[in-house]
Amino acid sequence: MLCSGGRFVVKFGGSSLRDSFEEALSFVSRLWDENEVVVVVSALKGVTDMLEGISRGNGSVQSVEELHLEFAKRRGVSPSVLSPILEELRRINTLNLPWEAFRDHVLSLGEMLSGIIFTEALRRRGIPAVLFEPWEILMTDGRFGNAEIDLRASRKTVKPVEEALEEGLVPVVPGFVGGYSGFRTTLGRGGSDYTASALGSLIGASGVIIMSDVEGIYTADPRKVLGARLIPFVSFGEAYVAARLGMKVLHPKAAEVAGPIHLGRTRDWHIGTVVGYESSGIPIVTYRVEGSDGIVSVVGVDSLGSFPFERHEEKGIPWVSVRVPLSRLGSALNAIHWEVIGRRIMFSRALSTVQVVI
Ligand code: ASP
Ligand code: MG
Repeated sequence: MLCSGGRFVVKFGGSSLRDSFEEALSFVSRLWDENEVVVVVSALKGVTDMLEGISRGNGSVQSVEELHLEFAKRRGVSPSVLSPILEELRRINTLNLPWEAFRDHVLSLGEMLSGIIFTEALRRRGIPAVLFEPWEILMTDGRFGNAEIDLRASRKTVKPVEEALEEGLVPVVPGFVGGYSGFRTTLGRGGSDYTASALGSLIGASGVIIMSDVEGIYTADPRKVLGARLIPFVSFGEAYVAARLGMKVLHPKAAEVAGPIHLGRTRDWHIGTVVGYESSGIPIVTYRVEGSDGIVSVVGVDSLGSFPFERHEEKGIPWVSVRVPLSRLGSALNAIHWEVIGRRIMFSRALSTVQVVI
C-alpha cells in the first residue's frame, strides 16, 4: 500500500485529527518518504457545527477559539499561528455578505484552522508543508452550501499545488470549501472527501487515501449491527448509492470523481476498503432518518423475503428500501442484515472474502 514513486492525496477526518493527530502526521511522513503527497484536512470534530451556530448568531466564538488554542498548544504548535483566522472570526459580524455567502465564509474557517495546525505540525517534523487557500485552488459552480467542483475551471487554478509537489513540498489543502467569483462556497456536509477525490483527479494522483476513525465500508453500521463485516472492494456505483442512502464513511460526490479511493483508519493505518472498479458483490445495508421513520436500504439486492420493500435502481446498481417506525429501526437493521448478509457469512465461503484486510 505505501508504495514508492506515486502521487497521493491523503485526507484526514475531524475525529482522526482530534484523536489520532500523531498517527496522522506519521502517516504523511512515511508516505512522503517515497511519494509525492497532498494533504486534505477536515475541521476538528464538532467545529463545523459550532461555526454553523455562529453563522446563525447563536454560537460562541470563544469556544471555537479556546478549542483551537488548547489543541495547538497540546500538539506543540505555537498558538500565534492561528491569530489571523481567530481575529477574522472575532470580527466576523463586520463582514458584509449576503446570508448564504456569509454562512459559507464562516464555515470555511474551521478547515483553515485545522489546516494551519496540521501544516505547522508537519513543519515541526521537518516536512516542508505549505498551506493553500482552497477557494483559490478549487473552483465551484457557486451553489452555496452544496457546491459542485468545476473540474474544468479548476484545471488551471490547481497548478500551484502541482508546482509545489514538483518542488518537493507537501501541499496542505483545507477540505470542504471551494471558490466562486471571489466567494467561498462549501461542498455540503462531509464534503472534505469530495475535495480529496477531486484534487486526486485534477493532479493525476495514483491514489486517494481517506483516513478516518473507521477502517472502511462495512456491510452495515457496526455500532448498530452486531456481526457487520468489512467489505474489501466496493465499486464506485455501490459507494455512491450507499452514501446517498445514508452511509457516512464517504461523501457521495467523492465516489463520482474517477480514481480509486482507499479508505482506512488513522489510529493503526489499517486500510479496509478500496472503492474502485471492482466489487466484492456483497450487499451494503444502510439507513437514514426521515421524520419519525427510519428508511433502511440494501444496496446490491433486488428483493427481500422478510419485509415489504420498494425496489429501485441507480447507476445500474439495484437497491431495495424498507420504511419502519424509528422505534423499530435497530431491530429491522439487524433482521435485514441477517437476511442478506448474516446467512451468507455463516454458510458460505463469503466469510473468508469479507475478512480480507488489505
Ligand atoms: N467539516 C465539514 C463537516 O463537518 C466537512 C467534513 O468534515 O468533511 O461537514
Ligand atoms: Mg466524513
